[in-house]
Amino acid sequence: MAGKKIYSVAVDGPSGAGKSTLSKAIAQELGIVYVDTGAIYRTIGLYVQRKGIAPKDPIAVAAILPEIQIDMKHGEDGLQHMYLLGEDVTTQIRLPEISMYASDVSAIPAVRDFLMEMQRSIARKQSVIMDGRDIGTVVLPDADVKIFLYADLDVRAKRRCKELEERGTPKPFEVVRKEMEERDYQDTHREIAPLQPAVDSIMVDTSDMGFFYARNLLIDMIEGSVGL
Ligand code: C5P
Repeated sequence: MAGKKIYSVAVDGPSGAGKSTLSKAIAQELGIVYVDTGAIYRTIGLYVQRKGIAPKDPIAVAAILPEIQIDMKHGEDGLQHMYLLGEDVTTQIRLPEISMYASDVSAIPAVRDFLMEMQRSIARKQSVIMDGRDIGTVVLPDADVKIFLYADLDVRAKRRCKELEERGTPKPFEVVRKEMEERDYQDTHREIAPLQPAVDSIMVDTSDMGFFYARNLLIDMIEGSVGL
């Protein structure tokens, strides 16, 4: 039986809490697929930006959804590549200005409906660790393990600054902190699928945790819960 059971791990939390770094490492260790759902919302955000549409306009955004074809492929490099109408947009969706576009379009119910089945069908086919904002609450309410990661705003902003620097798009700490605060506020206060922990999620504060400590802690939790 071991290794054959399909299971799912939901990881939610605000930006900079460590979701993607940890989920990626855990997926590699456990030999399961990592799904970054933020990348899907970012892909829609990028399309809306390119079309020059107001990202908060629910009617205009809903009207262009039928034109959008999104594909996701896991490359040999272990990266989750995102394709928008056949174009690899993996790098473009990481541009800092796309973060707010993603947050804006993600508050539109038609966008969330549009993406729901895509996310669920991935988890039906194979074991996954899926990260986002509403995975444990809405997308995979029956996930085998639900983890909610969080950390102090200053710590999260510092991590994001480092990431932006490494990507060659540095920004001042105060700007990053303010933008992060605004995006978190928007994500937690929207009417549909707001960012919040599922009642049955394990809350983990990563503020003072090193990467390896957090990774091993989460792997122990997952193995214990799934019975690996
Ligand atoms: O995780 P990431 O920062 O890439 O996500 C970008 C935005 O996409 C978030 O700020 C959030 O508004 C939205 N999102 C969401 N639900 C998810 C994943 C991301 O609403 N499951």
